[in-house]
Amino acid sequence: MTATATQTPFVPVLSGSSWQTVETENFTEVFNPSTGEVIARTPHLSAEQTNDVVAAAKAALPAWRETPVVERARVMFRYRALMEQHFEELAALVTREHGKTLAEARAEVNRGVEMVEFAAGLPSLMMGETLPNIARSVDAEAVKHPVGVCVGITPYNFPNMVPLWMFPVAITCGNTFILKPSEKVPLSAVRLAELLLEAGLPEGVMNVAHGDRVCAETLLTHPDVAAISFVGSTPIAKAIYETGTKHGKRVQAAGGAKNHLIVMPDADQEQTVKALSASAFGCAGQRCMAGSLTVAVGEAGDAVVPKLVDYAGAMRVGPSDGNENVDMGPVIRNDHRERVASYLDIASGEGATVALDGRRDFSGDGFLIGPSVVDHVAPTMRVAKEEVFGPLLSVVRVNTLEEALALGDDCEFGNGAVIFTRSGYAARQFKQHFNAGMIGINVGVPAPMAWFPFTGWNRSFFGDLHIQGTESIQFYTRQKVTLTRWPQEGESHHDPVWKSGSGS
Ligand code: NAD
Repeated sequence: MTATATQTPFVPVLSGSSWQTVETENFTEVFNPSTGEVIARTPHLSAEQTNDVVAAAKAALPAWRETPVVERARVMFRYRALMEQHFEELAALVTREHGKTLAEARAEVNRGVEMVEFAAGLPSLMMGETLPNIARSVDAEAVKHPVGVCVGITPYNFPNMVPLWMFPVAITCGNTFILKPSEKVPLSAVRLAELLLEAGLPEGVMNVAHGDRVCAETLLTHPDVAAISFVGSTPIAKAIYETGTKHGKRVQAAGGAKNHLIVMPDADQEQTVKALSASAFGCAGQRCMAGSLTVAVGEAGDAVVPKLVDYAGAMRVGPSDGNENVDMGPVIRNDHRERVASYLDIASGEGATVALDGRRDFSGDGFLIGPSVVDHVAPTMRVAKEEVFGPLLSVVRVNTLEEALALGDDCEFGNGAVIFTRSGYAARQFKQHFNAGMIGINVGVPAPMAWFPFTGWNRSFFGDLHIQGTESIQFYTRQKVTLTRWPQEGESHHDPVWKSGSGS
């Protein structure tokens, strides 16, 4: 099948200097989840077409890495200004292809802008270290060099922010970049790249390749690719980490999650109910930091669950595209809606109680499902263990804080965890002992901002250096250490490191 003027357009590929339309029989349809309408087609690049994109990124590397970091950072200053100028357009695009509400889309773009602000400060953060006279007359310095061609493979749930977790830092560090966005939400990625070129980025430094497994695996195994940043589900993250490292690349791969929200009996009930609801049902539950398992300690369950059911039941669920009057938009696809709904039957089949059922009749063709609350969930049930990634909050009831903490030890994932309490002791025990990398104390979604690393633990992250913060600079650079000695004319050339007896 090839595209004609009457067919849905293909999303363009950015390879070096030009945007290209690749018409292919292999593509993914991009939906507007609010209406169910197909709005674009994402081409699946072949291995050969993907190789061309890598060649473009490689060709641009020598000039870009020699461009002073101060000039590279200035591109980010201009980029930030353009993002501000196009802020509403970028947010509307996120809502259009993803379905989250406009308020949520604005929050996402804001987080992306912060990554650009962080990258604009890189001249200070890229400075090296020196130690004069580390041995007699010998000076040592360690400096950061870019690693080369970097690749970002991103998920559908943050079409704007997650790409921005990666390329501003990678590019400002002096690397060239290939973004392979989720085939379900490619439009934000394309717009972000267009604005980056408008900000003055030289051709070939930023590239956008589209596709599925073939494109991703070509990038993962290509000898000219140095580093892979991945965000997506745990099985794919693990596979990406294993394949990428096997092929000699550095890999940071963030995976899925099952985030616990512990409610102590002393927690402020009104605030906690709002925070639980925002955490579980914000972005229709499609966030890796979404709370998906409330752990109610002691009498907290009886106090909080009825209020939560009332609060979530009153949420306005509807098409979000162009509509500010909704609290929750659709999920990404119809099959995903069915998958989320299926967990209600699975949970009740395993003996849990569906306290709020999100399966309602919604008018229109959008992929809508309301918030659900499942009570009396046992930790062994599938709904307590598997990532649902939709607006479904499970409630496990326990008697003590210690029991709540132990649940973290049995969890496959380890992204975020939250406690709601007025007790400093409980908060400290939780912070110190819960088995997860991002902790919230009376904060429902403890997602670190640009300046801090996104520290998933266990099978929520594969690799050593996390995304965001100074760890991302370490990831996108490699160090070079130079020892320097300038002997006086006529001075003998004994190796002064040996002579000083400070080791070899
Ligand atoms: P996904 O794993 O299905 O896809 C992510 C990316 O991987 C896409 O670009 C996709 O095209 C690509 N891909 C798919 N199959 C592949 C394969 N076999 N080989 C190589 N690449 C492949 O994830 P998704 O459904 O788009 O996103 C939702 C998931 O992402 C959830 O599990 C969520 O928790 C996770 N997520 C994690 C974080 C985090 O920071 N830990 C952040 C956002 C999302």
